[in-house]
Amino acid sequence: MPRFMRISLGVLLLFGADFVAIGPRSCAALQTQDGAGVQSAAPQSASTQAGSTQAIPTQAIPAQAAPTDPRALYEALNGLRPDGARVYSVKDLTLRRDVVSFTFTEGKLAFLEPLGGRVTGAMFSGRGHVIATPHERGERRSLAHFIGVPILDQPFTDAYIRFTDDTASEMQRQLAQDGVEPGSDPQFIAYWTPLVAGLAPTHSLRTMVDLLAADVVPYFYILLQTDSAGPVEVSVDSRREEQVTIGQPRFSEGVRSYEVWAAFPAGNSPVAWTAAFLPLDYRVESTIAEDLSLQGKTTLHLRAGRAGERVVVMELSRHLAVDGIQGEDGQPLPYFQNEELSRRDAARRGNDFILAVLPAGKPAGADFHLQIAYHGNVITDAGNGVDFVGERGAWYAHLGGEHFTPYDLTFRWPKRLMLVATGTESAAHEDADAKSGRWQSAVPFPTAGFNLSEYQTASTAGKPKIQVYANKQLEEAIVGRLQRSSPNDLPPPSMLDRYNNTDRLTGVADQPPAPSPTAALKQLGASVQDSIHFFENVNGAFPFEQLNVAQIPGSFGQGWPGLVYLSTLAFLPPETQERAGLNEWAQSAARELMPYHEVAHQWWGNVTGAASYRDVWIQEAMANYLALWYADSKKPGAHLMTNWLEHYRTELMTKVAGTNHSVEEVGPLVLGPRLGSAKDPEVYNTLIYGKGTWVMHMLREMLRDPNAANAKDADARFRELLRAILAEHQFRPLSTAEFQRAIEEHMTPAMDIEGTHSMNWFFDQWVRGTDFPHYSVKYEVKPHGNGFLVTGKIEQSGTEDIFTAPVPLYAVHVAGKPERLGVVVTTGAETRFHFESRVRPTRIVIDPNLTLLWNKG
Ligand SMILES: [Zn+2]
Repeated sequence: MPRFMRISLGVLLLFGADFVAIGPRSCAALQTQDGAGVQSAAPQSASTQAGSTQAIPTQAIPAQAAPTDPRALYEALNGLRPDGARVYSVKDLTLRRDVVSFTFTEGKLAFLEPLGGRVTGAMFSGRGHVIATPHERGERRSLAHFIGVPILDQPFTDAYIRFTDDTASEMQRQLAQDGVEPGSDPQFIAYWTPLVAGLAPTHSLRTMVDLLAADVVPYFYILLQTDSAGPVEVSVDSRREEQVTIGQPRFSEGVRSYEVWAAFPAGNSPVAWTAAFLPLDYRVESTIAEDLSLQGKTTLHLRAGRAGERVVVMELSRHLAVDGIQGEDGQPLPYFQNEELSRRDAARRGNDFILAVLPAGKPAGADFHLQIAYHGNVITDAGNGVDFVGERGAWYAHLGGEHFTPYDLTFRWPKRLMLVATGTESAAHEDADAKSGRWQSAVPFPTAGFNLSEYQTASTAGKPKIQVYANKQLEEAIVGRLQRSSPNDLPPPSMLDRYNNTDRLTGVADQPPAPSPTAALKQLGASVQDSIHFFENVNGAFPFEQLNVAQIPGSFGQGWPGLVYLSTLAFLPPETQERAGLNEWAQSAARELMPYHEVAHQWWGNVTGAASYRDVWIQEAMANYLALWYADSKKPGAHLMTNWLEHYRTELMTKVAGTNHSVEEVGPLVLGPRLGSAKDPEVYNTLIYGKGTWVMHMLREMLRDPNAANAKDADARFRELLRAILAEHQFRPLSTAEFQRAIEEHMTPAMDIEGTHSMNWFFDQWVRGTDFPHYSVKYEVKPHGNGFLVTGKIEQSGTEDIFTAPVPLYAVHVAGKPERLGVVVTTGAETRFHFESRVRPTRIVIDPNLTLLWNKG
């Protein structure tokens, strides 16, 4: 149930779009990463006066005027080459951008030719050095995870620099002070000219965004060839919410990915960051042909956030080619989509974003429409009549980030298929050629989705209505896995009859019949409805009119508003799951957690959402925790909660392959998708789902009322907390800071460990930090009055001295249940305690009821 997260750094770094396209909440058992542009990053300096034109003396080259036509401007920027007549021999030239210092110790430096009097790039070869120390501990930890030390400190030999800030004049000033006269260096120019041409396109787009805007929102970017760490990118881009980024593009086994080593706001960042544009609503018309190709048109209703911006950056799958973009009066607008790539290359390494250029900047607050037409293939045939909308990329044009807006979807599709989409269905129609229908959101949605296949359906009685859509047959991949499994592993045939299936898979000779997923429909619908009733008790009323549950191929689930996709694996009985190669935990996850995790996302993800990539953990952890709580409540004797918490603890203590640190130490929850590196993609799942679940569990335990009359009342405070958050953030994103504040409004006196009515201690340690304490207890028992006095100390290690936690101690007796002695709030390496006990304890144990995450290793 891990959530699959699309990381499209190309867009991110470049255009200030959120790092993570938050999009559909997809929860993949197998995490996938969508890498993106490599030389993508567009950084920039946050200098506020930037935007000044840096005129370089232009005796040799006549100043080329910057074209006003966007495409001509883009081509002109792409055509800029190193100024071969002026190559400088530099010595100890320095640049500083936020916390990053560059020294160009000795070598050759040239600038790009100016355009419209403005210089936008430079290149260097020789010896140089970069040093950066992020202020924030979590970011230093992240650097250490990737490069072994919490500081970027690397010599480099080559540097490619792009900017719309005043970098050129800053360097020119130093060169002038040092009395350096430029000369020619054909070898240097011959080396850089082809590189410059290849690296230009993404920067041409980023530069163009600034040149067309009323005000430059500057960026600085540098690509360094380092001696030991390979290529390193540093960007300081004022268009991004976190301006400073340090990272590395990676290619591994043909897959592009991006590792963000550190990202944080610049020291002089604007107090309130404003998006250039915000979406107000979407209208999406889609026609799906017999061959499943899609022809679509998205009408975006947008509002200008910043005045004078002309370039609208949107996300759209690279598999959809834009046919045209129209502005307010139907006039065609210039646009850019994977300009430098052929159609074939675009599918392989293109970016999932497009840029449209408005004829003129809008005043802040003005609203307007854009219409994007496109066509392509985003629907995959998984075999045996199972089709699905690929999760990669976006099937309609939209702005990046998490926004709750109205959606109005219409579809026309082949008659042989059934279509299910987000929203309330109306205008269903069938003619000689195709079916059609319209789906509108009754409340604002964070995203919209659809799927279509040869479904069988069933619905439940009662409220809310659950409509289950299952494929008539298994997709080929699962059939293949079943065929490959050894006959010795097959369960007794009688167990397969459990679901009373009658369908037979074709082509599976000499095998017991594989079960049809449709057989489990009614049962699944009923248990989904039952889980909704459980979650309503915790979260408040179900937020949508009904819930559609649709099967999709693969091993992940997704929770859309009023629509849940479940992996085929969730539709299979345990015996078949086992034959399909799932281990014990994966089976339990697919059967006992995944369906309810996705149902819990109906609130946590679709009523409230993640404010940024740093807040994704809240939605995932809460969905996972609520699913586990529900599953545990259905099987009181099975100890699901305890078993999963112990399983997660073990996973968190496991060493990351090839390192001497545990998974828990990789990084704090607030790094979100950045925790999943190409090196160990599973780390993300273990932290966000495993540790995240523990964090929610610890909060619930602290809010519990042990003296409540019954178990339901004991959790009253936790339920009130969740309902309050969902009410206050209804159809709005939720940040980690807001989540913490809500807990502070509901905290008990015992949670106020610091006496400041703050939960900083908890969030600093468990959410923004990577502390993982280890405990041991030493004690002695003496008779005391009618009972016994237990005195001793708890030893805390594996954390910083300031780490503090409420550690419950229990006395084990010869007979009867362990008795709670009390809670020791630890500080530092040792914390002393004394408790009175009625009977003589035979042993003192730490937290037998799993209320605290600590390292037992
Ligand atoms: Zn999820």
